[in-house]
Amino acid sequence: MARYTESVCRLCRRDGLKLFLKGDRCFTEKCAFERRGYVPGDHGQARKKQGSDYGVQLREKQKLKRMYGLLEKQFRGYFKKADQQKGITGSNLLLFLERRLDNIVFRMGFAGSRSEARQLVSHRHFTVGGKPVNIPSYLIKTGDVVAVREKSVNTAKIKEAMEMVARRGLPPWMELDKANMKGVVKALPQRDDLTMPVNEQLVVELYSK
Ligand code: SF4
Repeated sequence: MARYTESVCRLCRRDGLKLFLKGDRCFTEKCAFERRGYVPGDHGQARKKQGSDYGVQLREKQKLKRMYGLLEKQFRGYFKKADQQKGITGSNLLLFLERRLDNIVFRMGFAGSRSEARQLVSHRHFTVGGKPVNIPSYLIKTGDVVAVREKSVNTAKIKEAMEMVARRGLPPWMELDKANMKGVVKALPQRDDLTMPVNEQLVVELYSK
């Protein structure tokens, strides 16, 4: 499957915001965006041109897609489902992305980044409701308990990630039992709970053309 293989920090610089793709490093002064917060390339520091409507919408879509580490086909699939549901399509889209198991594992602090979470989930390190689940796109529901499997409690990556969860903060819609390495999704997030700087309406406009 096609995957982006260059430095992910370039993506933050290109999108003009921190996408938090590199775990703990993103919270330190080593963050490339903090050091060089301009577009990569020879003309990166030149004055920015005002983009067309299409360009602005496209950039917003890329930003959201990269934040969750999805390929175009997967991302568009979520948009389709979001559009078929009742309610505001953009909010539905964000909710689908947030409900992915890899995102929940990341949000609970069991992984340093969503890509690391995806790998850990694929390697069967977690259970949902007591059953092992190794599908990163598995959709979590209200009340689901996500736990580190007993055989995985000493996994170095998970332990390291849990050290830094305090620095990142836990979203109010979940609860973490750090000692027992498990967390519960108390309620699915509302739009206001999702504070990342994205304008999902622009993505809706892009796909609705
Ligand atoms: Fe983005 Fe993290 Fe790299 Fe900073 S360290 S540029 S936030 S991926």
